[in-house]
Order: sequence, then C-alpha cells, then structure tokens
Amino acid sequence: MLGEKDRYIDFLEEMRKYPGGWDAVFSILDSWTNSTDVAYQPLLDEIAETWGIENYAPWDVAYVRYEFQTRINDEYADAFGIGEMHERLRATLKGLGFSEAERAIRCFSKPHLSQEELGSLVHGTITVRDHGNRQLRQFGKYNDASLMGLADIETNLHEDGVGTYRILFHEVGHALHHLNIRSKYHMLRTAFPKYFSEAVAQVVEFLVIDVAWLGEVCGMRPESAARLRRLVVSLELQKMRENTMWAFYENEIHANQSVARRDVWRRLARRFLYPRTDLESAPGEREYEERLMYFPYSALQIALTILIREHLRRALSQDGTMFTTRAGEMLKEIFSFGGSEHWTTVVEKVTGEPFSGESAANTFNSLLESKS
Ligand SMILES: [Zn+2]
Repeated sequence: MLGEKDRYIDFLEEMRKYPGGWDAVFSILDSWTNSTDVAYQPLLDEIAETWGIENYAPWDVAYVRYEFQTRINDEYADAFGIGEMHERLRATLKGLGFSEAERAIRCFSKPHLSQEELGSLVHGTITVRDHGNRQLRQFGKYNDASLMGLADIETNLHEDGVGTYRILFHEVGHALHHLNIRSKYHMLRTAFPKYFSEAVAQVVEFLVIDVAWLGEVCGMRPESAARLRRLVVSLELQKMRENTMWAFYENEIHANQSVARRDVWRRLARRFLYPRTDLESAPGEREYEERLMYFPYSALQIALTILIREHLRRALSQDGTMFTTRAGEMLKEIFSFGGSEHWTTVVEKVTGEPFSGESAANTFNSLLESKS
C-alpha cells in the first residue's frame, strides 16, 4: 500500500499531466506577493500606528488572524446562534439528499453516552457529543467508528458564530465520508491521502458560506451572505499564507540548524504575510522544477487541500450553489470509493473532468477583482 510520502511523489508525477495545477499553486503564491486582501492591511496599519512597530513580529500574525476572526464572528453572531445549529444541520443534510443520515443524527450536550444511549444508536447514526466547556478552546474531532456503521463526533462548542458552525460541519463532512465508503477490501477503505480527506470535509464545511444555503437555511439576505462569504474567503487566504509561511520556516530551520531563526522568519514573513510592506516582483520566467525542490511537503499538503476543495466546490455547484440534491449525489459517489481508486481518478469519474487547480486560483483572484 502506498504511504503518504509515496503518494506525494506519485502526485508530483501525476500533476505533470495537468500543467494547470502547478500554474494555479504558483499563481496563488505569487498573488500573495503582488497583492493582498482589503481586510488584512488596515489591521496591520492599526498595529503599526498604535505601537509604532516597524518590523512586525510573529505574535502580530496571530493577533491579526484573531482580530479578523473576531470581527467576522461579532458581525454575524446573531445569524449563527448555537441553539439553532443542530436543526440547521439536519435541514442541510436533507437539502443535500442525505435523508437516511437526517433521521440518524443524534446530538448530546455531554461528552459521554450512557449504556442505554449507546444501545439506542441505529446503523448510520452520526452522534455529536459536546463538552460545552467554556474553559476550553472550541474544537471538533472525528473518531472513525464507521466500521460499525456509526459515526462519532466529539466537540467542545459553546459560542455563537460562523466559526462554530464550520467546526461542526467539517466533522460531519468526515463522518459522511467514512459512513459512505463502499470499498470491498478493508485495507483500501481509508487508503487515501490526508489532504484529500481534509478537502472533502472542507467541502461540507464551506456550505456555511454558500449564499443559497445562507438564504434558505438561515434566512440571510443575499447582500449580507455575499459579504460574509467574501470575509471568510479573505480569512482563508490569510490562514493559507500563514500556514505556508510556517511550513517554509520549519523546512529551512531543519535544513540549516545554524541559521538565525529571526532572520528566516523576517524574510518569509515579508514574502508571504506582509506583501504590501515591501513589494517583490514575481519571477518572469518560472522555473517550476527548481522551485518544487524547495517546496516543503507540509506546504504542499495545505495547497493541495485547497486546490481539491475548490475544484470540487466548483464542480458540485450549479448556478453558484452546491446546496442541492445533485451535489449530495455527487458527494456520496466521491465518498463511496474510499481509497480503492486514486483520488484524481475518483474526481475525474465523478465530476467528468480532469482535476485542475484553476478553480482555486479563480476563488482567490475574485477577491482582487471585486476589491476595486
Ligand atoms: Zn478534518
């Protein structure tokens, strides 16, 4: 069986067949250098002005992300009440045509189930066990119990807000994936790379910024829904920059132990995080092969997750929404393969088109276009 690293090598080979894929990865990275989203820069300016900081430090990054997330959460707190979350999840699964799962979602406001409760679970049940502990940070975990025909989700959700919905919907994505695998051979069941299973879970997670879903399930006006979507995509771009920056950082530190960490951080932060503070020109002639040698595995995984997610989101969408039974049908089919086929084959079979990274590039580029 292929290990994750082998699959990565395999993927590099595979991607050579789809030149658009690498174009997209590098165009996203380059677009970070040449431009930035609107909501991020004012925050940096604010920090610089308030504290007179010329050179930003690592803790600014976390601060900016936190501020950004808080602003989104605050602005939309009323629309994402935690009290309505489970009902909306049921409505979502129904809208996608996962009706059997709809009957079987069981949500418990406690971390453990009694013997009696365990005994009452039927085949196909998704259980959501919640700690609801305000002392702990919010989290969601999926434990694969699907061999028994059950899905087990453990959460600690206690705040209103879109972030909370995303955590639950993401874990439900994993649950649906595992529950629908139809691989004949057990060892092939979950023999897919992590970036693929994360991408699939994120497809379900991203339903919470689907404009049609926001209207139908949450009663949100289209302008408001479109603004939320834009804010969340901007935040995603910021997170991706941040994660990629740290992946490169890790890579360089490991490769050269004697290098000054502060200098590495500064250089990478300038390249990925603060593009407007010092504009760097993109290389005119791109030497992909050469650049790939320096592309860390962890950063590639992040980029791949996003490429696959955006490809699927576009392929599953009709008239700008994937909140349809057609999308649900396609998802079930994607899930059903497990690891019995290479994921590019699965994507190609189900969507009827070869995998490419163009959708991801379009998503982020749309931020730049609508800015002006
Ligand atoms: Zn996940």
